[in-house]
Amino acid sequence: MRAIAVITEVELPDKFGEDLAGLFFGEIAVSVIKGEVAEKRAALNVARGQLRADVLFELLSVMPRFHKTVYIIDGDAYVPGLNFVFGVAADDKALVFTERLRSRDPAVFYLRLLKEVAHELGHAFGLPHCPNPRCVMSFSNTLADTDYKGPGFCPQCAARLRKTLGGK
Ligand SMILES: [Zn+2]
Ligand SMILES: [Zn+2]
Repeated sequence: MRAIAVITEVELPDKFGEDLAGLFFGEIAVSVIKGEVAEKRAALNVARGQLRADVLFELLSVMPRFHKTVYIIDGDAYVPGLNFVFGVAADDKALVFTERLRSRDPAVFYLRLLKEVAHELGHAFGLPHCPNPRCVMSFSNTLADTDYKGPGFCPQCAARLRKTLGGK
């Protein structure tokens, strides 16, 4: 069982960890930790009012004793060449940015956040983007894409992920 730390700047319902673990077939154990991410300040592009996702990614550390660390950052971010990103991930770290996922409906915000965290964590486990627009690993160019896709992995991505999670 792989231990995943989720450091979140935003308040999450208690069921978040359970829901996330469920999407990964119960093969991960999720610890949700509320906290401020002070490194944000050093990654802020004041002129754009956005965080440099790639800069922040390098500044953030992985939590000791956890297999992967997910940061849920209250803010908007970009990488050079893109107007914005919902998140970034590689190896043992994943970052998700909340600002563009916001909705007046807390249930909608929750689901978007769950999908984007599952997506970035999927990348951290080595999954590429998926051509199936209903799969959580499909690339979201817009919020409409995020709302269209489900929180779950398609059979192909699920099979790859199970293989990764099954091997120690
Ligand atoms: Zn992606
Ligand atoms: Zn897929």
